[in-house]
Amino acid sequence: MCIFCDIASGKVPTEIIYQDDLVAAFADINPLVPTHILIVPKEHIASVNDLPETDEGEKLAGRLLVVAKKLAKEQGIAEGGYKLLLRTGSHGGQEVPHIHLHLLGGGKMKEGIGLAN
Ligand code: 5GP
Ligand code: ZN
Repeated sequence: MCIFCDIASGKVPTEIIYQDDLVAAFADINPLVPTHILIVPKEHIASVNDLPETDEGEKLAGRLLVVAKKLAKEQGIAEGGYKLLLRTGSHGGQEVPHIHLHLLGGGKMKEGIGLAN
């Protein structure tokens, strides 16, 4: 259905850092910081706007966060700290229409949030 569906399903060969029944994680193709991982639902959900308001939707949202926490520890960035970024829609700067939680770390980061103009 989209590039992240193809990566999560193995159709496009990519090193999968982590996967379980609900989510998969892989390195961003264009890393902005030393550790830049994307955590995505295996199911195609375009954006947070499309997250179901059900127990399943809450479970998936929680899983994304808990996996981010686990990977931060595994990658050795938990103690120093990290940033989790979930862009949504045009104003949020979302480019790939499949939910992806960015795990960013490996050094002190600048703020970088504000209106474009
Ligand atoms: P967004 O701006 O939508 O929050 O972030 C999309 C991210 O996906 C970008 O950081 C971009 O580098 C990454 N990305 C886009 N296409 C691919 C791809 O084919 N493979 C991987 N690993 N990352 C991708
Ligand atoms: Zn998709």
